[in-house]
Amino acid sequence: MAQQAQYPEAVEILQHFSLSEEKMHEIIHRLTKEMNMGLKKETHPRATVKCFVTYVQDLPTGKERGKCLALDLGGTNFRVLLVTLKSETDVDTESKSYVISKALQEGPGKQLFDFIAECLSDFCKEHKIEKDNIPLGFTFSFPCKQNGIDNGTLVAWTKGFQADGVVGKNVVELLREAINRRGDLKVKVVAILNDTTGTLMSCAFRERNCRIGMIVGTGSNACYVENTSNCETFEGYQTSSKPNMIINCEWGAFGDNGVLDFVRTSYDKTIDLESVNPKKQIFEKSISGMYMGEAVRLIVVELMEKGVLFKGRTSQTLQQKWIFNTRYITEIESDSPGHHRNAAMVLDQLGIRTTNERDLACLRFICEAVSVRSAKLAACGLVALINKMNAKDLVVGIDGSVYRYHPHYHALLMENMNLLLKGSVKFQLMLSEDGSGRGAALIAAVSNK
Ligand code: BGC
Ligand code: MG
Repeated sequence: MAQQAQYPEAVEILQHFSLSEEKMHEIIHRLTKEMNMGLKKETHPRATVKCFVTYVQDLPTGKERGKCLALDLGGTNFRVLLVTLKSETDVDTESKSYVISKALQEGPGKQLFDFIAECLSDFCKEHKIEKDNIPLGFTFSFPCKQNGIDNGTLVAWTKGFQADGVVGKNVVELLREAINRRGDLKVKVVAILNDTTGTLMSCAFRERNCRIGMIVGTGSNACYVENTSNCETFEGYQTSSKPNMIINCEWGAFGDNGVLDFVRTSYDKTIDLESVNPKKQIFEKSISGMYMGEAVRLIVVELMEKGVLFKGRTSQTLQQKWIFNTRYITEIESDSPGHHRNAAMVLDQLGIRTTNERDLACLRFICEAVSVRSAKLAACGLVALINKMNAKDLVVGIDGSVYRYHPHYHALLMENMNLLLKGSVKFQLMLSEDGSGRGAALIAAVSNK
């Protein structure tokens, strides 16, 4: 606190990012309401939080075995994986990452899928499995309306993707067509899944008590285990012999109808307008890695222009939108208390050379405020799901670059969940080991039976 007194202008701005316990409970209440609208058949069409059924009704038993291919599209990298489930504790994974260029993200969808098929072919040939007809699970981390385990219609792109001619189409079909156009591959696309579902499945393989999968990475979302009888948008919800259904919440869209306006800041509004999908994914834009850095940048630029930071010097580099990668936040918050080595390095890369303690400490203070808010919002989401399931003892599987690499994110989530749950629930937050790959393999193994 004593330190903060040195930069009152920053304190003033960052007040808007703080979330009281009362506001957090209000967020939980509102999210629960939106989720119920998504689940109910009558309100689903106009719901913002869609709560899509995933057609994944069986959690792993730990007995699943076999060899599967997986594609992982929608995070930082595109990956092809070959996963061999050998035993509960022995899973062999080979993978290769490919970069999806901006041109591919924003160009014709056919080119995007041709590229995906090309990478798959390249990978299969390297491993000499191109004729083996191996089952493949497609981890496609965008909102999809599913009509079956191997059928998913893209509802909207998120996270900077904009490829034409994909929204409204069954992406499994687009993938199969692209594979067939090449004609050099024999694989069986057996399932499409969201990364959250993959995360839940991969954690449940190890921890049978896992009931939630969450991602805080480029984007943010969660899935959880619902009673099938509550899943009204699933044809067989009243007659299914299976008691459970994984629900892909698509909580990133929470707030798209204005219900989060009571906590949004002017910076959030600017980020939304700068993004390729204005007015969409409002909750996600306050939580996830694609946007956290931009919030920091906007605040830094404002303080710089007011002459509060950097003694009135300016930086052309820092003026560029999206230049402040969320990785910088992770680096800056990794400095040990009272030291600013990483902070100075980051600023140097952005065209500001300074050793001024006050400026460096202020930069860290801004990063912390943005990270804390992200973790608080994610904690609200998790608590809403835990309450919805009425769970008293569970494991939460988590993946994504922010959770994985931020030095304090796990602790911040724990702290805020404890604050909200007040000891009423036993929970454990578990880092998922390659959920997108393993989860896809598990689902492919189950659905290829
Ligand atoms: C997508 C979700 C995905 C999440 C995390 C969001 O933008 O809509 O489907 O799970 O990002 O990758
Ligand atoms: Mg991922």
